[in-house]
Amino acid sequence: MDFTTARTRLIDNLGSEITDKRVLAAMSGIPRELFVPVPSRHLAYEDIPLPIGLEQTISQPFIIALMTQALALTGVETVLEIGTGSGYQTAVLAELARLVVTVERLPALSATARKVLDDLGYRNIEMHSATETLGWPDGAPYHAILVTAGAPRVPPDLLAQLALGGRLVIPVGTRHVQELQKFTRREKKNLVENLGGCRFVSLIGKSAWEEAKNG
Ligand code: SAH
Repeated sequence: MDFTTARTRLIDNLGSEITDKRVLAAMSGIPRELFVPVPSRHLAYEDIPLPIGLEQTISQPFIIALMTQALALTGVETVLEIGTGSGYQTAVLAELARLVVTVERLPALSATARKVLDDLGYRNIEMHSATETLGWPDGAPYHAILVTAGAPRVPPDLLAQLALGGRLVIPVGTRHVQELQKFTRREKKNLVENLGGCRFVSLIGKSAWEEAKNG
């Protein structure tokens, strides 16, 4: 099967659970195979995560669609992504928002992602290397924040970078299994919703996990 046919089939399948047509349209236009290492390209349109090197993964398409849908983007937003990884989720966000600020702690992954995103012609993506503080406070406040790595709890540093009314989506749980949580920042008590179970690599940092000695 060629990539275009495989992509159409995947998006059709996602459409049984994902209702935001803009998210599905964005994903229909992005060649996921270019974000996947060459030996796994034949699996690019299976609904599974895939290794991208350095013990990291490109997320499962369904989870990417679910998280993006939860951000309720309309095209005017400034979005922060933590964990550029392959850059695929970054591209999905760039299709749906005005500006995407994305942060990654492994320079080799940023470099590969940057090349693919540049080659595809994205001009509304700012890439940064992670610092001690989670996220990218210089660009705050953000209308939406997406964390694509799992944390033990929602890091206060990130909530502080979210605009009033803004949405933050983050996997929260143990190192091995998490619950996808959506926070909506409100003046008094933030709204918290659970979007279902998931399994992400660890978010590394002061208010998240320590880097594991054994990977
Ligand atoms: N959205 C990516 C997911 C990559 S996996 C994709 O679909 O390809 C999660 C990524 O988060 C990894 O690349 C990891 O290096 C990165 N990461 C972990 N902790 C981080 C931190 N504190 N700041 C920025 N990136 C981080």
